[in-house]
Amino acid sequence: MEPHPGYPPGRVATVLGVLKRSLEVTGLTPVMLRALQIMHRRGYVRAVNYHATPLRHGERLRTHFEFFQKHFSSVSHSDLAEFLVDGRWEKKKPGLIVSFDDGLRSNFEVAVPLLEEFGLTGWFFPPTDFVSCPVDEQADFAERHWIDVDPEAPRGERIAMTWKEIQVLADRHVVGCHTQSHCRLSDALSDDRMEHEIVDAKTTLEDGSGQSIDVFCWVGGEESSYSSRAAACIRRAGYRFSFMTNSAPILSGTDPLQLQRINVDSRWSADWVAFQVCGILDALYTRKRQLVVRTTRS
Ligand SMILES: [Zn+2]
Repeated sequence: MEPHPGYPPGRVATVLGVLKRSLEVTGLTPVMLRALQIMHRRGYVRAVNYHATPLRHGERLRTHFEFFQKHFSSVSHSDLAEFLVDGRWEKKKPGLIVSFDDGLRSNFEVAVPLLEEFGLTGWFFPPTDFVSCPVDEQADFAERHWIDVDPEAPRGERIAMTWKEIQVLADRHVVGCHTQSHCRLSDALSDDRMEHEIVDAKTTLEDGSGQSIDVFCWVGGEESSYSSRAAACIRRAGYRFSFMTNSAPILSGTDPLQLQRINVDSRWSADWVAFQVCGILDALYTRKRQLVVRTTRS
């Protein structure tokens, strides 16, 4: 399955686990969030990304969204545009972009009703070939293209969203491009393939969703899955925003093509999710983030 760039293995993960438990015991997570708010007086936006959200995790997901609603404001496409262009953040709480990668059916059926119950905007990034894939081939497609599906989902049933569901999401939430085939955009790709995965994918998603698409989301997250050629292609294709996964708050001066997210999981406790967004991981990702920003900067 897709190696998400969460925690490094071994000792670092252990140290983070201890740190997280200490924050829980001392109740420091809300204090960390308040400190971030004071540090970024003109406002900041945090972005998280989920993958599969199966029904059996629904109650967990509800506790995540309760936490989000308590500590953050929802972020629409226009909220993000105004913040990045004009530096305006007039909501009382910081913003939180709740995003979902890979166009999974469980996102539409489980996460969307909860998002709407809590008044949150979801940002959805479906690979277009996965959505167009015949139902009986979707499990194989997911396996061949590193799409992390629910291991307990019955084989043979639909895994991907339908185009009809994507049209609903494009009307009520935000839909962005995640390439055609869930392709890591490394330097090893030919120019034609790069064009196909970035430019043609935009057209396919616009045709399928019925809306213009100006948000892109990189696939993978490892350093090698970013390249300067792909970044140039994303700019040429006319994308206005692009999302990565190297944990950092989005500030008014942030490059709109280098918006960082942190991976979260519907299995996790709300405390663990709170730990992910309290700012400590930003420091852990500094080196990787600098490398990726250097590779992809405008
Ligand atoms: Zn993905």
